[in-house]
Amino acid sequence: QEKDYQFMLRLRNPGGFIPPELYLTLDALADKYGNHTLRATTRQSFQMHGILKQNLKATLADIIHSMGSTLGACGDLNRNVMAPPAPYKNRPEYVYAREYADNIADLLTPQTPAYYDIWIDGEKAVTAAENPEVVAARQGKAGQVEGQVKPVEPIYGAFYMPRKFKCAVTVPGDNSVDAYTQDVTLVVITDEQGELQGFNVLAGGGMGRTHRKEETFARIADPVGYVDKADVYDLVKAIVFTQRDYGDRYNRRQARMKYLIHNWGLEKFIRKVEETFGKPLQPFKELPEWKFYDYLGWHEQGDGKLFLGFQIQNGRVYDNGKLQVKAALKEIEQRFQLPMRITPSQSIVLYDIDPADKAEIQAVLDRCGILREEQVDPIDRLSMACPALPTCGLAITESERIIPDVLDRVRSLLTKLGLKDEHFVIRMTGCPNGCARPYMAELGLVGSAVDSYQVWLGGSPNQTRLARTYLERLHLDHLEQTLEPLFAYFKRSRQAGERFGDFCDRVGFDALRQFAETYKPA
Ligand code: SF4
Repeated sequence: QEKDYQFMLRLRNPGGFIPPELYLTLDALADKYGNHTLRATTRQSFQMHGILKQNLKATLADIIHSMGSTLGACGDLNRNVMAPPAPYKNRPEYVYAREYADNIADLLTPQTPAYYDIWIDGEKAVTAAENPEVVAARQGKAGQVEGQVKPVEPIYGAFYMPRKFKCAVTVPGDNSVDAYTQDVTLVVITDEQGELQGFNVLAGGGMGRTHRKEETFARIADPVGYVDKADVYDLVKAIVFTQRDYGDRYNRRQARMKYLIHNWGLEKFIRKVEETFGKPLQPFKELPEWKFYDYLGWHEQGDGKLFLGFQIQNGRVYDNGKLQVKAALKEIEQRFQLPMRITPSQSIVLYDIDPADKAEIQAVLDRCGILREEQVDPIDRLSMACPALPTCGLAITESERIIPDVLDRVRSLLTKLGLKDEHFVIRMTGCPNGCARPYMAELGLVGSAVDSYQVWLGGSPNQTRLARTYLERLHLDHLEQTLEPLFAYFKRSRQAGERFGDFCDRVGFDALRQFAETYKPA
């Protein structure tokens, strides 16, 4: 008898968009085939855990029939395209960011009909299956259309990408998407009238690394140039083709585009992209300072309607005692049919809310124990943890299940040291793959052994600077002992208004270690 294999399923939701019908389908599937929870991810999609192999087809078919998809959410191809979750209707740059996130996602979606053939018995659900190149391949004429030799997949060719590929589209100043961690980030550039002109382009970010393999590392993206709107799809394709054709296919640990850029140098990478693009990139346009936005709370969306962001701790949509996140969302969707966007910090924005419904929606959330914006502890608000144990097969240690306790301990320590109101970005993962982007945090904890974490310090509050390894292994039993001297030094020597990550970066790790060695706890 076959074992009960179980799977994690991840959706493709460009810009984190989930229509109400799809949400209700996911809610029901989580109960029918999953582990009664949904997990909002740092790439703005939902994951379902615990789906048995024999239930996969029924689960996928239900999702597809509700106009959802998982195609491209995993695998060596373009993953979910991110965009700011703010559903502003009166700010053209946000409208363009959402629109182009959708368009880039479509541009880089595989054309194969196999996905639909496998999961819904060949029933034609979308016109992508009509691709003549794919039809030719199915007739035994693979790669030949009208006498020309063409790859079956127009973007991915015969072999797809060397490794996963990640894109985001954002607007100047809005770093809700962690712009520097993506393979490609497009930044919308408009004129004074709000007309779209083109895009600034960043390339070469990526978080994943492997412990004790120095040739692997987290890297932040570089500005590579500016492109007019008419050329943006050709440029994105040129970047994808460059990575597809020159990315390392021999060593998976070196296969992300960040290593290609690192090995070649930025200049050569840009030159190669320009060869395929057919023209030079224009100079990168000046941008305002980046800020992190999580969009919690009630906001006007610019067309008379409202949107509401609320925190889902670590993205886990579930019911547990007085906290009834799943029940709340189900009730709201059944009663008000609201579209939602998953945020890059694993929370949820509901939008198109009629102001007349505001009080009733807030009452549902209050009744179900979901905190209002002003009730969320600022440290909690800025923190993120990946799923790790027990649902991620790559986890070395705990993350999602243990971070509430870790944050409580950090908060107690700060209070003890007279830093009660201090807050900074803490991110935790169960392995060095870095799904919660810990290498951009002011304090990053990266699972390295049972109950032990590598400590990263010095990321910036707006996620524009990479943190660095401060300590190879911190056992959780020594959390306070390790952090207390750092916080004490921070309190004593910080500049006015300086945040913890900026402080660690400014004073340097030698000074931090020196202070810690001579520190005597109060
Ligand atoms: Fe990602 Fe590693 Fe966390 Fe799994 S344990 S979710 S692979 S960071």
